[in-house]
Formats: sequence, structure tokens, C-alpha cells
Amino acid sequence: MVFMEKYQYRPALLIVLVVFALAAVWNLGYMSVQWDEMPHLGGAVLLSHGQLWDYMTIYGYYPPAFDIVTTGYFQIFGINEVAGRLVAVTFALLAIAVTFELAKKSYGAKNALIASALLATMPGFFWLSRVTMLETMLIFFFTLTMFTFSTWLRDYLFLPLAYWFSKNLKNDFLPENEHLWRWILDDNGLPLRREKNPCTALWISPLIHSNGCVCPCWMDKEEKHPLGDLNKMKFRDIWFGEKYRELRNEFRTDGAKNELCCDCTYAYEGGSCTGETIVEVNFYNK
Ligand code: SF4
Repeated sequence: MVFMEKYQYRPALLIVLVVFALAAVWNLGYMSVQWDEMPHLGGAVLLSHGQLWDYMTIYGYYPPAFDIVTTGYFQIFGINEVAGRLVAVTFALLAIAVTFELAKKSYGAKNALIASALLATMPGFFWLSRVTMLETMLIFFFTLTMFTFSTWLRDYLFLPLAYWFSKNLKNDFLPENEHLWRWILDDNGLPLRREKNPCTALWISPLIHSNGCVCPCWMDKEEKHPLGDLNKMKFRDIWFGEKYRELRNEFRTDGAKNELCCDCTYAYEGGSCTGETIVEVNFYNK
């Protein structure tokens, strides 16, 4: 479980994708060409022979992307119905992977894995991934659009808005005397990063979760950086172990690179250091 959380459930997603791929490609020539497979296969055959005008006049009512990709698959695997169905398998796999990324942004990696596994095991989706039809491609592009739109919302709307608020409204919340502010702000109104992070937590304050997982410090409430498991190892071996040593070395040489510490309060001028504050409030943006 700790391993899965460390890699954000991507190894489990890989298993889902491999199992799905094996099941989807099994006996792909299982049935003769059916329904709308005909126009896509026929269209790709025309494109493969360079008969663009014939393609436009006969099959022009379909969006061409699927047929163009199928033409590419014909070049690799030869002109046959299995090659056409492999296109649907490919876009089904891409759709499952993008569904994982999209769900992870909003609901976390574990729920994203469930979402992608549910999609992979939906009978209708599975069936569509084994026929030369464009539905899996549509699902993929629709999900990709949602994913890029939510990324755009965050990067071009929410973050600039937060930046604008921090710049323009700070005096509504902060004391007028800048010396009383906690943070030292740069020209953009954002907290100024320290050249050297003075935190000593990695040497004095391990965090032990109730399940026995030892983490670097109290900021790691989600066990994203597990250093050892007290159910399997002695604390002494974890504390002096390789993982802890590597983390301390990385922190000492370039703390800004360290994923755990780079955005910690101590990484910024004015951020409090161990023992300096009476009360510390941490806001987590999960
Ligand atoms: S800098 Fe922050 S995250 Fe890193 S060890 Fe210190 S308290 Fe923890």
C-alpha cells in the first residue's frame, strides 16, 4: 500500500491497462466485419491506396481522424479487420489512462484508480474497444478535453485570480506595518524563497503514523514520503537507514529540489522554524 501511495497508484493502473489490453486483443478476428466497421475499414483502404477523392465522396460523412489512424495501422499490420480493431483498442487504453489523470486531479489517486478500473470493465466500453468504430476515440478526446480544460482553469483562472488577490487585497488582511507581516514578499507580492532552508526537523522530529509508518516530519500527513515501517523494522534502523540519509543529504545540498520541503513554510523568508512558534496552522491543499 505504501508502495502504491508513493507512486500514486500508477503501478496498479499499469496492471489494469495490461490486463485490459490482453483481454481486448484476444482473438480480435472473432467476428466478420459488422455495422459501422465497414465504412471505417473501407475508408482506410481507399486512403491506403491514395484514393482521397473517392474517400471524400463516399465516406466524407464521418470525421476523418479515425480512418487516418486506421490507414497508419494498415501500413504497419497490413490491410485486415484486426488492424482496424487495434485502433479502437489503442484509444480505449488511452481513454482509461486519461480518465485516471482526470479523476486524480479532483479525487486523488486511489479514487482515480477505481474510476479507470470501472471504465475498463464496463461491458459496453470493452465491446466498443474490439470493433473498428470510433467511439473509444471519441471517449478519449472528450476525456482529454476535460483534463486540459481543468488544467487550464487552474493555471489560467484560479492561480492568476489567487495571485491578483494576494497582490491587490493583501492590505485588507495584513497589518499596515510591513515589519509585522509574517512573510517577506518579492516584487510580485509572493513569499520570497530562502536561499538555505534552516529547518532541522529531519534530524530531530520524525513523524510516526498510527499504522507504524515513519515519515520525515509532521508535514507529511498523507505518508507521501514513507521512510520505513515499524511493523517490519526497528526505529533505529529506519532513523539511520539509507532512505533517511539520502533525504537529509538532498535537503542539505539542495532543499529547493526536495519534493517534501520545497514548498514548506520554512522554505520562505519569514516562515517559522522549529521551536520558534507557539501555534502553527497548516492549510493543506490536497
Ligand atoms: S522543511 Fe518543512 S517539510 Fe521539510 S522537514 Fe522541515 S518541516 Fe518538514
